[in-house]
Amino acid sequence: TDGRGIFRVYSPEMGSNMRRYHYLLEELRLALASQNFTLSFQPIVHVEDCSIDYFEALVRWSHPIEGNISPAEFIPIAEESNLILELGDWILHEACRQMSAWYNAGMRKVRISVNVSAVQLKHRPIFNWVMATIDKVGLPAHALMLEITESCFIEASDVVIQELEKLRQAGVLIAIDDFGTGFSSLSTLAELPIDIIKIDKLFIDQANDNPKYNKILNSISELGKELDLKVVAEGIEHANQFELVKKLGIQCVQGYLVSRPETSRNVGNKVLSGNLNHIAA
Ligand code: C2E
Ligand code: CA
Ligand code: CA
Ligand code: CA
Repeated sequence: TDGRGIFRVYSPEMGSNMRRYHYLLEELRLALASQNFTLSFQPIVHVEDCSIDYFEALVRWSHPIEGNISPAEFIPIAEESNLILELGDWILHEACRQMSAWYNAGMRKVRISVNVSAVQLKHRPIFNWVMATIDKVGLPAHALMLEITESCFIEASDVVIQELEKLRQAGVLIAIDDFGTGFSSLSTLAELPIDIIKIDKLFIDQANDNPKYNKILNSISELGKELDLKVVAEGIEHANQFELVKKLGIQCVQGYLVSRPETSRNVGNKVLSGNLNHIAA
């Protein structure tokens, strides 16, 4: 309050946040028109032998003045403005195009995983969109995975769930992302059209200090086995985190310990030289 019991609806900080928002919104429009985005690729590896299971495609925006702007900042703006529809079309097409090139070069065992936002799912039927995109670039359905956040699943309509199930029947894999942050009950997992659970980094960060998080990780791991779902632990930065998830029987990990997200060129070089097949842990 301002000391007289009146709430201020405007603060200088709010003003600068709003300015930043509108600035980035305009810049996003321009960036879309001039194709100023790239994709980075981060490997997800099997705990057992550190072989690559898949790559997650992560969008990058290099702004001419601001430099790199984090997707954590611009994706929400793109979602609120529906610009994510156009950006998301580019992301899916580019990720599938790159994977198709890798596939044809002999990388037959890995997949590409693409983040899809709630706005994209709500806006139009996803099945035709995804199938048309992979057809266009000649990528087999089984080489594609989609990551959909737990909070998005919670609010998903029956139609969205059916569309996702149709994709699964066509061979596309579906992952539930940021699992553990959306408060869905563990029992609803059995009902969802999913193949993979990605446990949010939050649980990994807490697990070595807090036995409760350790127990949650353990029960997600057990549930994954019970329901025949592959479990991935996100945000593994330290060897002791790797050892912990290994002990808990979690199958796959993603994190800076294994590799940061990389350009497609670096990924190609590392895969060819066998450099991504082992890690320090
Ligand atoms: P996410 O889907 O949970 O992606 C994982 C994020 O964790 C990525 O951040 C990745 O770089 C980061 N990460 C991976 N390993 C580690 C680690 O060991 N430590 C730490 N501290 N971070 C790690 P990024 O690329 O900045 O993306 C942030 C979020 O922005 C993503 O979270 C996702 O929600 C969104 N996003 C990124 N790319 C896309 C995209 O192409 N489409 C959509 N719809 N959203 C995207
Ligand atoms: Ca993700
Ligand atoms: Ca995630
Ligand atoms: Ca996340």
